[in-house]
Formats: sequence, C-alpha cells, structure tokens
Amino acid sequence: MAQILLPEKVWDGTAADYFPSETAILVENGKIKEINSRARLGTEAEVVSLDGLTAIPGLIDAHVHLSLDPESPGTNAEDPDGAVLRARAMVRRGITTARDLGSSGGKILELRKEINKGERIGPRLLVAGPPLTTPGGHCHFWGGVVEDAKDIEKLVRDQAELGFDWLKVMATGGVLTQGTRPSAAQFKLKELEKMVSMSEAFGLPVAAHCHGTPGIAACARARVQSIEHSSFSGEGGFGSAFDEEVSQLISESGAFVAPTVHARWSRFLTQYNDNRPISERTESTNDGSDFARRMNRCYRGLKAAGVRMVASTDAGIPGVHHDALDRALPVWARFAELSPREALISATSGSASALGISDETGFLKPGRSADIVAVRGDPLKSLDCLADKMWVMARGQVVTQQSEVFKAKKGN
Ligand SMILES: [Zn+2]
Repeated sequence: MAQILLPEKVWDGTAADYFPSETAILVENGKIKEINSRARLGTEAEVVSLDGLTAIPGLIDAHVHLSLDPESPGTNAEDPDGAVLRARAMVRRGITTARDLGSSGGKILELRKEINKGERIGPRLLVAGPPLTTPGGHCHFWGGVVEDAKDIEKLVRDQAELGFDWLKVMATGGVLTQGTRPSAAQFKLKELEKMVSMSEAFGLPVAAHCHGTPGIAACARARVQSIEHSSFSGEGGFGSAFDEEVSQLISESGAFVAPTVHARWSRFLTQYNDNRPISERTESTNDGSDFARRMNRCYRGLKAAGVRMVASTDAGIPGVHHDALDRALPVWARFAELSPREALISATSGSASALGISDETGFLKPGRSADIVAVRGDPLKSLDCLADKMWVMARGQVVTQQSEVFKAKKGN
C-alpha cells in the first residue's frame, strides 16, 4: 500500500536548502513515487506523520566489515554469525546502504541475498570478497594471498563468479596485521594494473586499501576506482607524508577516496573543541592533536585537488561499531573542514554517485528506493541531531518506528 510521509522538512541529498514547507513524499512499492506539496498528492494512501522531523536520504557507509566484531581484538578474529545482528543495528540507525570491504568468505554474500529478498533487515550491501594480498601481507589470514599473475587471474575470476560486487586489494601494509608496515607498498604497479584490467573484464570495480604514499600513488596510476584510508602514512605516522602531486594524480585518475574517519577520532579533537577550523590554529601542541592537524592537511589537500571523498568508518575494527556513522559524520566534518551539507552529501548522494548506485539510492527523488531517515533538528545547520533518535525507512519498509522517536521526545 502506498504511504504519504509528512515530515516538517525534506532535503533531497544535494540542494543548498530544504523543499518548501508542506512537502510530502509518496512511497509506493519500496520506491519514492513523487515528492510534492501535500495538497497535490492524492488521498489514497496511508498517511505517516513525521511531525517536527527532517527527512533526508538514508545514509551510506562506504567502508565496513560486517564479519568483524568491534568488541574483539583484531581482524583475524572473525565472527560472521554476528553479521546478521550488526546489519540490523546499522539499518535501524539510518545506514540504508553499506559497502562491505573484506572478510574471509561468502557469509556476507548470503546475508546480502537474504536482505535483498526481504528475509532479513539490513542495509543494501555491496560486497567485496577476501582482499588480494601478499604472502604474510595485510589480512593474509582471510585467504586472498596471490603470488603471481596466475593467482591474480584465478582469484579475480573466482570472486566475480561467486557474485561479489567489488574487488578489494591490500595495496599497503595495515595497522592490524603484525609483520606488515602501513607505509610500505605490497604490490608493484604492474601487479595492480593486472588486477584492475582483470576486474574490469568481469565488471568489478577495485577498492584499494592504501596507507603509505607510494601505495596510494601506484593505485592512482593503476586506475583503481576507490582508495581506502588514503592516510599518506610515512616515517612520522599517518598524514606525515602528504603529497600534493599524488592528490592531483588521484583527482586525474577519477578515483574517489574513502577516508574511514570514525567517531573514535573525536579523541584527537579535544584540543579543538572551540570550533575554530583546525587549519586556522597556529599554536603548537604536543598531544594527539598533531594527528588531527596532519590529517586535516591531507583532507583539505585532497579536497583542493578536486578528489571526491565519501563518508566511511571501517566499522568492525576494534572499538568501531557498525551503527555509528551518525556519530562519525560530525567528526569527519571537523577533520576535513566540511560544512554539514558537504558532510551529508558525502554520506548520501555523493557516495551513491561514487559507488555507481545513484540510480537506486542516495537521493530523495522519484524513482529512487525509499531509503529515508528522519531526524529531529536541522541537519544542514548542525550534524549533531543525527546522533539523536531517528525514524528510518529502508526500501519502503519502516525499520525504526516513529513511536520510538516521539516516545523519546516526551521522556526527555
Ligand atoms: Zn577496512
């Protein structure tokens, strides 16, 4: 049955402002059928009052690991069975789409199928298989080790046939795998080019885990579709080897960056709580805020070079919960000096466009999936309201009821 949603405000995912007041959203068969003034929409539908709430597109987390339990200590302690509950928690907190960037196997494919069939609730999933890596390399225990071109060919073919949506490659070492160095590249340009051309032949885009600057540069040259983390890691840690030319290279390649800034990075901002932009601070500090300053420079540099960046959290790594994109967005906005609107675009329309699913989601527009979040407040002014109670519809199904939002209003 069709539904007419009546929020107080509606934001389409791109515009500088909200629709005029009294705008309503007509939802039918899981999709947005029309967005128009209440008076112009017919009455043959169930009316859902979202009084006092602002409707925005469902959020997209472009980098998660559903198989990982954030309460367990590392990436080699997988808990695929818990993925069902984590997916549920995500969608109930407004994350209606997520890209799962690596695990040891096909459990997440199964979950994707169950969600698509409506048998379970969870975000629309784009899924990568075991990431391609070197012997003993980052996340080698997930089973994606390749030693030569033949291995690359076999793994890419196998993963495409299994139905994965993305190919993931560990182009540098990682923080969580002993014996690897984040700043060091794991593959040569030739090998990366081989992965990209093989993947292209099977229609799979490539997402490359990159911390160190040489690895980032190689991935941009090999024309991967997305660069994960993009930490510009060097001798002095994350952000210490920022390189403008490499940023330019990424921009020219057309790749987008998923910087994986999660809510726990707020601990690096304690020195910056006066709301002045990080880049405008001149006083030097010897605490963790140097990290904030370094990463701030990277993100501003990427933005200045015209690189598209998408909201992403790396949920699943220790302490980073899957349902916390709402709390990550204000932190991401602080680090990159984004306006609330820019940060929201990076988690909705901008992300959908980068991920190649803009026909499906990321926008409140007719024809798109009814992936809708309603929050109490003015998210184009302040992102803080995202962390409050929310009403959520995913593919036309209400997964978080408005009673939960209104109850909260009365209770507090
Ligand atoms: Zn990751």
